Amino acid sequence: MALESLLNLVYILSAVTFILGFKLMSSPESAQRGNIISGVGMAAAIVASLMFPEVVRYHYIGIGFAVGTAIGLLFAYRTPMTGMPQMVGLLNGFGGLASLFVAWAEFDAKGDHQSFFGGMVLWLTAIIGAVTFSGSFIAWAKLEEKFISGKPISYSGQQYVTSAVLLGMVVSGVMFSLDLAAPEAYYYFAAFCALALVLGVLLVIPIGGADMPVVICLLNSYSGMAACASGFVVNNNLLIVAGALVGASGIILTLIMCKAMNRSVANVFLGGFGAAVTTTSADVVGEIKPVKTEDAYLMLEAANSVVIVPGYGMAVSQAQHAVRELMEAIEKNGGEVRFAIHPVAGRMPGHMNVLLAEANISYDAMVEMDSINPSMDTVDVCMIIGANDVVNPAAKDDKGSPLYGMPIIEATRARSVIVMKRSMGKGFAGVENPLFFKNNTRMLFGDAKASLQALVNEFKAAGK
Ligand code: NDP
Repeated sequence: MALESLLNLVYILSAVTFILGFKLMSSPESAQRGNIISGVGMAAAIVASLMFPEVVRYHYIGIGFAVGTAIGLLFAYRTPMTGMPQMVGLLNGFGGLASLFVAWAEFDAKGDHQSFFGGMVLWLTAIIGAVTFSGSFIAWAKLEEKFISGKPISYSGQQYVTSAVLLGMVVSGVMFSLDLAAPEAYYYFAAFCALALVLGVLLVIPIGGADMPVVICLLNSYSGMAACASGFVVNNNLLIVAGALVGASGIILTLIMCKAMNRSVANVFLGGFGAAVTTTSADVVGEIKPVKTEDAYLMLEAANSVVIVPGYGMAVSQAQHAVRELMEAIEKNGGEVRFAIHPVAGRMPGHMNVLLAEANISYDAMVEMDSINPSMDTVDVCMIIGANDVVNPAAKDDKGSPLYGMPIIEATRARSVIVMKRSMGKGFAGVENPLFFKNNTRMLFGDAKASLQALVNEFKAAGK
């Protein structure tokens, strides 16, 4: 009993470190500390869990631990920064699968002792786990464009099929919970698990490319809820607390992303958004005006106010250090440089902030979209580095665009715009960008890092 009290005390302290960690993660300066504190709390919780008297054999746990750690390390080392959303997607999925297995194991071991309520808890754990697993797998495949295209997939009667699957899941769950000791209980268990796996697929396939950030956040939240439910199943308070924290923070992030992208929360939950028709090139007027490095340099050299809009392409070319060098050159020349940060730029929340901070660019220079847009008319040069969807005016003007309704950084209102990209390739949403054809836009084609370095060299050659 004394040991159990001690272990529960460790659990409480661990829960406190998780909450403290979250608090510290709300500011970029303290985020690293928050991560370390939560990590230490998690390590203590794992050790404490292994010491509970119910744990009688360690060899299977040891094997699982070693294999899981090896796979996790390999994944983390091999995944580039640009592949983080896919990795987060997969990890969410594994969390869901773990919860599904917990429910299965508990049903198998103690199913005949469970009440109706106990059965419903097992059902809830299994279905949230299964939806999270298959939904996350589809999100990963869409982001990687493996096995399945990133485009929304819709078919007639979609809502009816989803509703039928939902109904089947509920009916089999109730039948299961009525008598867990009955021989048919196993069939009901298998049925709602299979239906939940199908539901996960159905909820994510209609989501269009540009809306994937919201889905990733939502699945993250689902994985927390699944863990929380499995905490009830195995009667583990820390799992309940940790799962609830992940579930709640995932929901908060989903709401923030919905607001940032002007998407309806209800539609996100029902999985029926993002399936709009795509813009055709007929919507685009004007012509492409390429610019040489020397001319782009002259534009920057004469500018008093420069706004840089970083996007996914900056991450691909790892151009953040070259960006800082250019910023320093412009500032030395007397110009003011600010960074306009769109909430979904790149491929994960906060992607651009993290990359720019890595290059020692001060957080004071990073301005959020809502704060920078009102001053855009007074900007001499807006320089877009590998961003596309987040500056696409179709999001404001074209009701047929999958981006329609998403707030954008209004680059086109600047006096002149320089766009750095390699080709006329489309962004993540796969739609044409009318900004590239505007009168005040110049295209500086090439890899972002190479173009930035060439511009820095121009400043140096001019002795600036
Ligand atoms: P986009 O994906 O819209 O565009 C990136 C652009 O970068 C491309 O048009 C590409 O053009 C260019 N590019 C790629 N490599 C390079 C390179 N080496 N040098 C220069 N340019 C390059 O990026 P945005 O940041 O504007 O938008 C993010 C999109 O990703 C949004 O649609 C968002 O919804 C989605 N998303 C965001 C997530 C998040 O959490 N932030 C998660 C999942 C999706 P080219 O090939 O011609 O060079």
